[in-house]
Amino acid sequence: MPFQSSVYNSLKEQIDSSVTIVAVSKTKPIADLQEAYDIGVRDFGENYVQELVDKNEALPKDIRWHFIGHLQSNKVKYIAPFVHLIHGVDSEKLLIEINKQAEKLNRKISCLLQIYIANEETKFGLNEAELENLIHKLPQLPFVQISGMMGMASFSSDSQIVKNEFDTLKKLFDKYSSSSIDNLKMETLSMGMSGDYKLAISCGSNMIRIGSMLFGERVYKNK
Ligand SMILES: *Cc1c(COP(=O)(O)O)cnc(C)c1O
Repeated sequence: MPFQSSVYNSLKEQIDSSVTIVAVSKTKPIADLQEAYDIGVRDFGENYVQELVDKNEALPKDIRWHFIGHLQSNKVKYIAPFVHLIHGVDSEKLLIEINKQAEKLNRKISCLLQIYIANEETKFGLNEAELENLIHKLPQLPFVQISGMMGMASFSSDSQIVKNEFDTLKKLFDKYSSSSIDNLKMETLSMGMSGDYKLAISCGSNMIRIGSMLFGERVYKNK
């Protein structure tokens, strides 16, 4: 299935212009991303380092690449030169490595702290105590800019469960919005995917990560 431009256009009409749509293009061929680019999409989300590196080389340079997957410290160096926003920061070790690579390049890299909100063991993220701890390390990491938070709700058809999880994340986001800590400025709240973006926006999200709705279902090889 090619890129669904009519779905994208009606999504843009539906939502407030303050909400950024990240088109999640993982596993999709370059031609599909080019189609999306041609109708004006500039924010793309990818989950795998090598795939992101290849796509960055093949596609126009004004794309804003969002890394939304689980990033391993030893791979930060490959995306550090060009990544726009790293959504999934969930450990001090990772943040220290991002700071180190950013310093080498003399650029500041924007990151979101991923918060564990779902009741699913397969999901990543910081709990409140870890978050608090990490935030106090930020003044020592001048080459990272924490610009917000990211979370993934449970995969559940019970919208009350999902809403409670989004509300939890929004409360944490608001809590740190008023604190003044170096290298921290809460601007972006990345929550909501194809299945729950409406609820996420009503709970205060201003960045949604939309994959299958725009590009069709993903087919994984070797899985
Ligand atoms: C794949 C992915 C998405 C997109 O999911 P869809 O349900 O296809 O919209 C969003 N966020 C993250 C972190 C993902 O890994």
